[in-house]
Amino acid sequence: MQRSFLIKPILDEVYPVIDYGKGVYLVDLAGQKYLDAASGAVTANIGHGVSDIIEAMNEQAKKVSFVYRSQFTSEPAENLAKKIANLTPGDLNWSFFVNSGSEATETAMKIAIQYWQEKGIHTKVKVLSRWVSYHGITLGALSMSGHTGRRARFVPLLEDFPVINPPYCYRCPYQLEAPACQYACAHELEAAIRRIGADQIAAFIAEPVIGAAGGAISPPKDYLKVIQKICEDHDILFIADEVMTGFGRTGTMLACEHWEVIPDIVTLGKGMGAGYAPIAAAVASERVMEPILAGSKLVMSGHTLSANPQSCAIALAVLEYLEKYKIISQVEAKGDFLRQRLEKLQNQFSFIGDIRGKGLLLGIEFVVDRTSKTPFPRKAVVTQKLVDLAKEKGLIVYPAGSGIDGVNGDAIIIAPPLTITEKELDELVGLLHETFTAFQNALGETAGV
Ligand code: PMP
Repeated sequence: MQRSFLIKPILDEVYPVIDYGKGVYLVDLAGQKYLDAASGAVTANIGHGVSDIIEAMNEQAKKVSFVYRSQFTSEPAENLAKKIANLTPGDLNWSFFVNSGSEATETAMKIAIQYWQEKGIHTKVKVLSRWVSYHGITLGALSMSGHTGRRARFVPLLEDFPVINPPYCYRCPYQLEAPACQYACAHELEAAIRRIGADQIAAFIAEPVIGAAGGAISPPKDYLKVIQKICEDHDILFIADEVMTGFGRTGTMLACEHWEVIPDIVTLGKGMGAGYAPIAAAVASERVMEPILAGSKLVMSGHTLSANPQSCAIALAVLEYLEKYKIISQVEAKGDFLRQRLEKLQNQFSFIGDIRGKGLLLGIEFVVDRTSKTPFPRKAVVTQKLVDLAKEKGLIVYPAGSGIDGVNGDAIIIAPPLTITEKELDELVGLLHETFTAFQNALGETAGV
C-alpha cells in the first residue's frame, strides 16, 4: 500500500496498516495481532472499539457536530465542563477545550500570563519548567519542554523556560536519597526564581509523573508539595501538565491527588478523548479565573474547533464509561500486579536498571551494568531496538528517555489500556519476556553493543 503521509523521516520504513482494534489489541491487514501495551501514545485508555463510545459518537453526529465557540455553546461542552469540575479536586471549575495536549499547555501558559495582566502586572510573562520534560510540540509548548532532542532544531525560536533538574531519583545529581535530600532538586526552583526575578515569572509547569522525556519518573513523596509551596511563596502559579497522567492513568482522576496537591491550572489531553476524538483542555481554578472574569471576561485564546460538540460528547462518554465500570479505582491494583511481574523480569535480565512509575504508567530504564548504572552508548539506539523487537513479537511499547532525548538513559513506557485484564497483563509480560530474551541474545552477538 502506498504511504500517503509522513510521520517519521524514515522513508523506507513501512508501517503496518491497522485494519481494526478491539480492547487491548490492534490487528493489521495481514492479520498480525498487536497487544497495545502503550495505549498508542498513552491515549487509548479504555481500549479500542468500545461500543458505548461509538453509540455516543453516532448520537451526537445525528444532532450537531459543530458549533462555533464564540457564537454558541452545546450541551456536551457544558456537561463535560461540569463533570470535569466535579471530578477534579478543589475548585478547578473552568475548562477551556482545545484539540491537543500542546494546545492545552499553550493555553495554560496564556491563561497564567493573562491572570497577572488582569491584575495590572505586565512583567510576569515567563513560564519556568524542568529539564527532562515534555509539554508539546508547538513553539510555546516546546519552549517549556526540557526535551533537548525535540528542541534542538528550533532553539533560536524558543524561550529558555527549562531551568531546573527533574526529581530523577535513579540518577540523582546530588547522589542523595529522598527524603534525606530534603528535595534539593525542588529547591533549585527557589534559586532560579531569585536569579530571574519573581516579577518576571507567571507560572511554573511540571508533569506530576514525567512521561515521554523520562519514562514514567514518579516524584518522591513530598516533592510536589515543596514545589507548590515555593510557587505560593513567590506569587507564581503552578500548572500541572496532566496530559498524560490525567483521566485516571495513575489510579486517581489527576495524578496530583496522590501527593495532595491542587494546582492552579491543569492540562488534560490524551486519555480525555481516549483516541476516539482529538480533545484536550486547560482547566483553571476559581482563583485564576476571578480577575479574568472581572476584567476581559474571556480567555484570550481559542481554536476553530475548541469545544467541538462531537469531541465533547465523546470525552463525556469516556468519563461515563470510566465511572460505569469503576475503572479508575482498579488501576492501582493492576499497576501493582504488573510492577511485580516486571520486577521478576528484572531478576532475569541484568540490563533492566530501574522499574518505576505510578498506577498503569510504568517505566523501565535499561543499563549496561546495574551496579554502576552505566547507560548504553547513544549510538546503540537501545530504546528503538527494544521497541522494534517488541513490535516483531506483537507487543507495542512506548519509547521514552534519551533513546530520543540525549539527557538520561534508555527507557520505555508500559501503559496499557486501563481496562486490561489480569490474563492480558500476563500475556503482556510473556511478550516482554520474549522481547528481552531476543535483546539479550542480540547483546551476546554484539559483545555488549
Ligand atoms: N504534555 C504531555 C505531558 C504529553 O505527554 C504530551 C504528549 N506526549 C503533550 C503535552 C503534547 O500533547 P499532544 O501530542 O496531544 O500535542
